[in-house]
Amino acid sequence: MQLSYSEEDRAFRAEVRAFVEANLPADLARRGRQDYHPRREDQARWAAILAEKGWSVPHWPVAYGGPGWTGVQRFIFEDEMRSAYAPTMDRIGPELVAPVLYTFGSEEQRQTWLPGIRTGQTFWAQGFSEPGSGSDLSSLRTRAVRDGDQYVVTGQKTWTTEGHHADMIFMLVRTDMDCKPQAGISALLIDLDSPGITRRPIWTIDEGLTVNEFFFDDVRVPIDNLVGQEGAGWTYAKFLLGNERTASAEVPHTRRDIAQLRDIARIERKNGKPLLEDAVFRAKLARIEIDTMALETAVLRALTSDAHDGGAIASLVKVRGSELRQRVADLADEALGDRGLAVCLAPDAEHRMFDDGLVPQVPDHGIGIAAKAMFRRATTIYGGANEIQRTLIAKTVLEL
Ligand SMILES: Cc1cc2nc3c(=O)[nH]c(=O)nc-3n(C[C@H](O)[C@H](O)[C@H](O)COP(=O)(O)OP(=O)(O)OC[C@H]3O[C@@H](n4cnc5c(N)ncnc54)[C@H](O)[C@@H]3O)c2cc1C
Repeated sequence: MQLSYSEEDRAFRAEVRAFVEANLPADLARRGRQDYHPRREDQARWAAILAEKGWSVPHWPVAYGGPGWTGVQRFIFEDEMRSAYAPTMDRIGPELVAPVLYTFGSEEQRQTWLPGIRTGQTFWAQGFSEPGSGSDLSSLRTRAVRDGDQYVVTGQKTWTTEGHHADMIFMLVRTDMDCKPQAGISALLIDLDSPGITRRPIWTIDEGLTVNEFFFDDVRVPIDNLVGQEGAGWTYAKFLLGNERTASAEVPHTRRDIAQLRDIARIERKNGKPLLEDAVFRAKLARIEIDTMALETAVLRALTSDAHDGGAIASLVKVRGSELRQRVADLADEALGDRGLAVCLAPDAEHRMFDDGLVPQVPDHGIGIAAKAMFRRATTIYGGANEIQRTLIAKTVLEL
C-alpha cells in the first residue's frame, strides 16, 4: 500500500487547481467561504461549468458521462473544490440516486433522469426517514397501493435534505403489509410537483433551512417510476446508504474547516498575541490535525483497496469523520469566544442580519462560525446515527 500521492496524482491536483482558479466565479467562492446554506442557483451555475468540462459527476462510469477517475482522483477533486470554497454541490442526485438508477433502474429511467442530474438541472431529495422510522427504517409506513398503471402514495417523510430545492424525490414506500418488513418496501421516483404533495421547511438551530418534511395525500405515481423490482427497495436503499456513509467521512470539508480555523486563530488574539501562538490552543489544533491525517489515510486506503468489506469501513470512517467535523467547528467557535455568538447566529448573515442593522461591525472571519458549530450536531445523526454505526462495526469487525 502506498501512503503518499503518486506523481500522476500530484499532476492531477495541479490541473484541477488551475481549472478552479480560472473558472470559479468570485461571488460563489465568497458565499462558500462564509458557509451559506447552498443556493440552488449557485449549485446549478457551478454544475453547468463543471459539466462543460466533463467534471460534474466524478463518481459516474464513463458510459454515463463520468470522467473515469480513480477513487484517489475523486478524493483530490473534492479536496480542491472544498479548499477553493466552491459551492457544496447537491450530492443526493449525482452521488446517491444516480448510482441506483444506472445500477438497478430501467433504460428509460436512465435516459429520462441521468442527463438532468449530470448537468445540474434536476435536483433530487432522498425520502427515507419518517417520524418514528429513522434508525429503525424498515418500520416505515408510507404506503403505495397499486391502482391500474399507477401507485397511490399516502404518508409522510421527514428530515429531507435540500427538499426545498428538489424537483424529484427517491422514496421508500411500503407496497406489501403482509410480509417481513424489509421485503414489503419498494423504491419510487416521485415528481414533487404532483398533486397531493405538501412540503414544509424545518428550521434548524442555526436558523438555516436544510431539512424539510413532506406530506403525501393520495399522490398518483406512474408504475414506470418503480425502480427495479417491487419489494426490492430495501436492497437499493442499503446500496445507496453504503455510498452515503463512505462520503460521510467528509475529510476535504474538515481540511477546509481546519484551514479556516487557522485563519481565525491568526486574527484573534489572546494575551496580546495571535491565538495561533497560544500553547493550549495549538495542542488542541494539533490533535485535530493528526486525527484528520489518520482519517485521510484510512479513506485513501479504502479507496485504493480491492477488498470491499461491506459496510464496516464505511461505518468506521463515518463515525470518525462526523465527530471530527464537530470538533473543528467547536474549536473555531471557541476561538471567537463571545464574539462568535454575537456575529454568527444567522449563516446567511449578509442579507438577514446586516439589513436589520443588528450587527454593524461583523468581521469577515466570524460569519457563520457559531451557526456552523450548532448545525454540526447533525453530522453524527444523518447518514445513519453513530450509535447504529458502532453496533454495525461491533457485529461485522469485532464479531460481538
Ligand atoms: C441534518 C439531517 C439531514 C437528514 N437528511 C435526510 C434525508 O435527506 N433523507 C432522509 O431520509 N433522512 C434524512 N435524515 C434523517 C436521518 O437519517 C435520521 O435522523 C437518522 O437515521 C436517525 O433517525 P431518527 O432521527 O428517527 O432518530 P432515532 O432513530 O429515533 O434515534 C434517536 C437516538 O437513539 C439512538 N438509537 C436508536 N436506535 C438505537 C439502537 N438500536 N441502538 C443504540 N442507539 C439507538 C440513535 O443513535 C439516536 O441517538 C437527516 C437527518 C438530519 C439530522
